[in-house]
This record gives sequence, C-alpha cells and structure tokens, in this order.
Amino acid sequence: MKCNFCNTDIRKGTGLMYVARNGKTFVYCSSRCYKYDRVYKRKINKKLLNERSK
Ligand SMILES: [Zn+2]
Repeated sequence: MKCNFCNTDIRKGTGLMYVARNGKTFVYCSSRCYKYDRVYKRKINKKLLNERSK
C-alpha cells in the first residue's frame, strides 16, 4: 500500500486509514500526511465552490 499523500510505501500494520462517506478508503503513512491531505482537499473544494458561485 502507498500513502495517499506522499506516495511512500506503507508497511503492514503501520500508517492510518481513512474511510470517506462515499466508501472510498485512503491510507496515509502518518497523521501528518493525513492532515495535509485533508487540509489540501478542503482548500480545493473551497476554490471550486468560489469558481462556481461566480
Ligand atoms: Zn505519507
């Protein structure tokens, strides 16, 4: 498995898994990558919303 954010190989038993509402699973090598990925995606969503409202 590879980290969803930094693409680093994750050993079995390490890292963390996040399951989205739509059933998709995301794996991260560390809580740092998890945080960054979530924050980054939130920013993208905000940008898309702003563009749509124009
Ligand atoms: Zn990572």
